[in-house]
Amino acid sequence: MSRCAICTRPAADEHHACATCVRQLQAWLREIPRQLPLLQASLRPETAAHTGRTGGAAYAHAPLPLRLDVLSLLGPGHPVPTADPYGDFQGAVPIASLLYGWAHYLAGDMPAVARDTHGTVHISPCEAAAPRHGTSVTAWCHWLTAYLPHAARRPWVRDLHHQLQDLTTHIRRITHAEPQRHPKTAPCPHCEAFALVEIDWQGICCEACGQHLEPEQYAAHAATVLAVLIRAHQPTPEPRP
Ligand SMILES: [Zn+2]
Ligand SMILES: [Zn+2]
Repeated sequence: MSRCAICTRPAADEHHACATCVRQLQAWLREIPRQLPLLQASLRPETAAHTGRTGGAAYAHAPLPLRLDVLSLLGPGHPVPTADPYGDFQGAVPIASLLYGWAHYLAGDMPAVARDTHGTVHISPCEAAAPRHGTSVTAWCHWLTAYLPHAARRPWVRDLHHQLQDLTTHIRRITHAEPQRHPKTAPCPHCEAFALVEIDWQGICCEACGQHLEPEQYAAHAATVLAVLIRAHQPTPEPRP
């Protein structure tokens, strides 16, 4: 048994991230593409939600037509923070650059196995990451999600976790779109506490024991619980004389 390098909970052998932290990574990679339309809607200062400005405010100079912090997130850039000698760097690393940078780093860390014409096997790092469906933010998120099992076995998964956490926090601060909690009615199948909660983009989790359920697992479990309840409340037939 190993220890998670992110939260120190037990992790599977030779793993540096536990199942809970891997699920959190998956949730952020699901959330980021869904936040994009909200970010784009926040580009123009007057349409940004909850700016706190009142109508008719007087400006000493013409306001910028676009928010630079949002523009820097949505635009091109470096996959790591650039040197900022004058302290005027706004916001975080651009979303696409961060995802692209991690995908290429991950690909370079994976062994590619090839056999030459003489039948000799050659093992070398992959040359590049190549999503099947384009190079959009959504495509990179899908690509990274598919290779999380490999990332979980590498010590740098901690850095990936921290950077995606920082990015998601930064995006939420702009869009004001936080994942919502939806309590579930059926008890936890593991500890029987009524503590199952569905959180947007994160799936269903028991807040008492940490048990995680996929939506299909919860649906099957809830149907079983309901069937038991219906049977328990059916009137018992009167015995015939
Ligand atoms: Zn962990
Ligand atoms: Zn539980």
